[in-house]
Amino acid sequence: MFDIEDLYQDVVIDHNRRPRNFRKLEDANHTAEGFNPLCGDQVYLYLDVDDSDVVKDIGFTGAGCAISKASASMMTEAIMGKSVAEAERIFAAFRHMLTRGPDEDFDYELLGDLEFLEGVAKYPVRIKCAVLSWHALNSALDGKQSDEQAVSTE
Ligand code: ZN
Repeated sequence: MFDIEDLYQDVVIDHNRRPRNFRKLEDANHTAEGFNPLCGDQVYLYLDVDDSDVVKDIGFTGAGCAISKASASMMTEAIMGKSVAEAERIFAAFRHMLTRGPDEDFDYELLGDLEFLEGVAKYPVRIKCAVLSWHALNSALDGKQSDEQAVSTE
């Protein structure tokens, strides 16, 4: 049903070639790294989160396959200026898109360019590439999440 062009859509290729926010933040207050041994993808994430839990700036560096790099690039655009709680909602929607298809009640508007990674759902081995930067984001924000928000991922 899907062929390889669905996986490497123009938007994905563009993010891979010209990754957005591909830089180290010198004044980051949250950092994390992620490694996907299955593919060799490596990502370093830098965040500047302010006192009201808003992502003021985000950048990433590292090396990896086109999917991992495009996903990290798209992620930085999706969560820039968003609250930590919103970032978690976006991740939930993204993960849902990759694992259960687009026909559920999720706000895919939140995803921005991430929606172009929908084809990854057909390639289970590549899902780890696509979510690598998001797991790094979770690590980076660990201990910064407030208890008040209870976002269901079901
Ligand atoms: Zn990969």
